[in-house]
Amino acid sequence: MDKDSARARAQELRELLNYNAYRYYALDDPEVTDAQFDQWLVELQDIEAQYPDLVVPESYTQRVGGYVSPQFAEVTHARPMYSIDDAMNLEELDAWLAKTDEALGSTPEHPVAYTCELKIDGLGVAVTYRNGEFVRAATRGNGTVGEDVTLNVRTIKDVPVELDAKGLDALSDASGPQGQSLLEVRGEVYMPKSEFVRLNSERDLAGLAVFANPRNAAAGSLRQKDPRITRGRKLATFIYAVADPSMVHVTTQQQFLEWLASCGFVVNGHFRRCDSAAEVHEFCAQALVQRNDLNYDIDGVVVKVDSFASQEALGFTSRAPRWAIAFKFPPEEKETVLRDIRIQVGRTGVLTPVAEFDPVVVAGSTIARATLHNMDEIERRNVRVGDTIIVHKAGDVIPEVVGPVLAKRPSDSAPFHMPALCPSCGSPVVHEEGEVAYRCISIDCPAQSLERLEHWQSRKAMDIDGMGPEMIGRLVAAGYLRDVADIYDNLDAEKIAALPTSRTYQTTTKTHQAGDPILVGVKTAKKLMDQIEKSKDRPFSRVIFGLGIQHVGSSVADALTAAFPSLQVLASATEEQLAAVDGVGPVVASTIAEFFSIPENLEVLHRLEAAGLRLADEAPATPKLPQTLAGLTFVLTGSLDSLTREEAGEALKAWGAKVSGSVSKKTSYLVAGAKAGSKLTKAQSLGVPVLDEEALLHIIQTGEKPEV
Ligand code: NAD
Repeated sequence: MDKDSARARAQELRELLNYNAYRYYALDDPEVTDAQFDQWLVELQDIEAQYPDLVVPESYTQRVGGYVSPQFAEVTHARPMYSIDDAMNLEELDAWLAKTDEALGSTPEHPVAYTCELKIDGLGVAVTYRNGEFVRAATRGNGTVGEDVTLNVRTIKDVPVELDAKGLDALSDASGPQGQSLLEVRGEVYMPKSEFVRLNSERDLAGLAVFANPRNAAAGSLRQKDPRITRGRKLATFIYAVADPSMVHVTTQQQFLEWLASCGFVVNGHFRRCDSAAEVHEFCAQALVQRNDLNYDIDGVVVKVDSFASQEALGFTSRAPRWAIAFKFPPEEKETVLRDIRIQVGRTGVLTPVAEFDPVVVAGSTIARATLHNMDEIERRNVRVGDTIIVHKAGDVIPEVVGPVLAKRPSDSAPFHMPALCPSCGSPVVHEEGEVAYRCISIDCPAQSLERLEHWQSRKAMDIDGMGPEMIGRLVAAGYLRDVADIYDNLDAEKIAALPTSRTYQTTTKTHQAGDPILVGVKTAKKLMDQIEKSKDRPFSRVIFGLGIQHVGSSVADALTAAFPSLQVLASATEEQLAAVDGVGPVVASTIAEFFSIPENLEVLHRLEAAGLRLADEAPATPKLPQTLAGLTFVLTGSLDSLTREEAGEALKAWGAKVSGSVSKKTSYLVAGAKAGSKLTKAQSLGVPVLDEEALLHIIQTGEKPEV
C-alpha cells in the first residue's frame, strides 16, 4: 500500500474504531462483533507499523479504549487502569513469550514463570477499601478517569463490604498509616450466562431491545443511574489485580491471587503457573474446551509474568502492560443459509421474527434457529431470506445471526417486512411510533391467552383463588378457555372436576389403573366455581386492569374508570379525552383507544357484561333509587331524540332494570326509537311489548312500570 492510500485508510479505520468504541463503551450497544472490531484494530496497527509517522497520539492503538459518561461523577485513578495487548493466534502468543523470555533473561535452568488466567468478558472495575471497609468503586473509563459506580457496586452480593482481617495483616507499610490504609483492588464485573439468558428473554417479551452479549449486559446493568436496577440484575465479580502491588507482602501473581481470596474476594479458580510455552498452550487449549461449560463468558486467556519484580521491570506502554498478553479465542462463527423468517407471537402480543436456517454445529451444539428480536434488528443486520448468513452464539449460549455474506446474496432476494396481520389470530398488527415492537393487541389471540388469563385471575385483578397457572394450563389444554369471558360462560363444575391433574395413581384398584391421572374432583371444582362467581363482584376498575391492556396498570385503571365510569363511555372516549386523564398521556391513550376499536375485544367485554360482571361503576354521588324495575329486562333500539341509548340504559338500570343488547323471549320490553329495524321485528314476532320514547321518558322519570 502506498503512503497516500495508507494515510486515507488509517483515517477511515480510526473513524470506524472511534464510532464503534463509542457504541460499545458509552452505549453498551455494539453494532459490530468484537472480531470485526479487532480486525480493524489489527489493520490499523499494521499500517502504523509500516508508516510510523502516521501514528497520532489520539489513535485507538495508542490509548485505552473507554468512555466516561457525564451521568456519573468522575474518579481519577490513583494509577492508570490499562488494557491488555492481544495475541490473535498461537504464533503471536509465542512471539510475545519469546520476546518476554528474552527481556527477562530466561534460561532452561531458570525459566520465566507465567500465570495463566481466564480472560473474563465483563467490564473492569476498581474497588477501594479504607482500613478494610468498602468506600468506593469506579469503572475503568478511559484508563485515567473512570465513572463513580460506588452505589451500583455495593449492590453486587459477592463484593465484600468489609475485608477479612487475615488478608489485612498481609498489607505492607506502603498501605498508609494505621487506620488509614487505602487498598484499591481491580477485577471484572460480569453477568452470569444464566442471568443473561433470563434478562434477555424478559426484555424480548416486553418488546425491549436485548443486550448483544453478557459483557454488554453487565456494563449496561452496572452503569445505571438508579442502583436498584443494578441490584435486580444479579451481577458478580472476579478480582485479579491491585493498583499498587507494593502494598501487599507477596512477590508473585500466584501468591497474590491466594491473598485476594483470603481477604474475602471472589477469585476465579482456573489459574495456573506455567514454566514453558508448551504449558501455556496446554492451559489455552483446556480453557477453550472448558469455555462452553462455564456460567460466565470468557474471551481468551490472560498470560501474566508471575513475578511482581519482573512485572515492575517490564513496565507499561501508553495503553497496556508489557508483562501481560491476552490470547484471544477465535470467534466461533459458521456459515449457513437462511431459509425462512418465521413470526412468533409472544404471550404479551409482541411479534418476534425468528431466523430458520440450515442446521450447523456452533460452540458444541447444533443450532437451526435464532431470534432476530424485532424489525429494527433485521434492518440493522441486513438479512434476507435466501441469504448465506454468519451465525454464532452470543455469550457462547444464545444462537445469533451476525449478518449476511453479501457476496453470496441471491439476485432475486427481497427485504423482509413484518406481516400486517397477526399470524396467530389474523387481527391487524399494531406498530406504535417510537416503539420497536410490533404487537397483536387482540384479546382473542390464542398465542396470548395463557398470559392474559393468568393476569385476569391474579390477586390485583379478579383474584380468583384456585385458578393459578397450572389450572389455567389445564383448562386451556382441554379447550375450555381461550379468552377471559370463557371463564364465565364456558365453565361448569362438571367440566373442571373431570380434568386430569399432574398426579397419578400409584396402585391399580377396581376403578382405576396404576399410572392413571388423578382427576381434579368435584370438591375442588365447586370451590373454584364459587370463586369465579365471587369474582363477578369486583369493581369496574379491576375488570379494566384485568384485561391486560398494554400500559394500563392498576392505578391507570382506577383513573380511567373514575373519569369514564362505564364501559360504554370508556370504549367510546376519543384519544384526546383519554389523554386528558391524569397519568395517561398520548401514548397510553392511543393504546387504549386501539384496544377498544377491535371488535373482538368489545365482544369479549359484552360477554363479560352479560355474565354479570361489573362494567360500570355505581354512580357514587347519586343516592340509590328504589329498585322498582328489578326483574325487568329492557332492550333499546333505533334512535332517540332526547337522550342517547346509553344514557337511557343507565337511567333504567338506576331503577333496578336490566338492559340487554338482544331480544329474546326473556325480554320484558323493547324501546323502539326512530328507524328501529330487526330487533323491532323480532320483538313483535315474539310478542314482546314495544314502548315508544314518550313511554320511556315517563318510566325514567317516575320509575313506574309500564302499563302494557
Ligand atoms: P480487553 O477487554 O480485550 O482486555 C483488557 C481487559 O480484560 C482488562 O481491562 C480487564 O478488564 C479484562 N480482564 C478480564 N479478565 C482478566 C484477567 N484475568 N486479568 C486481567 N484483566 C482481565 O480490552 P479492552 O481494551 O477493554 O477492550 C477491547 C475489547 O473490546 C476487544 O475484545 C474489542 O473487540 C472489544 N470492543 C468491541 C467493540 C465493538 O464494537 N464490538 C468496540 C470496542 C471494543
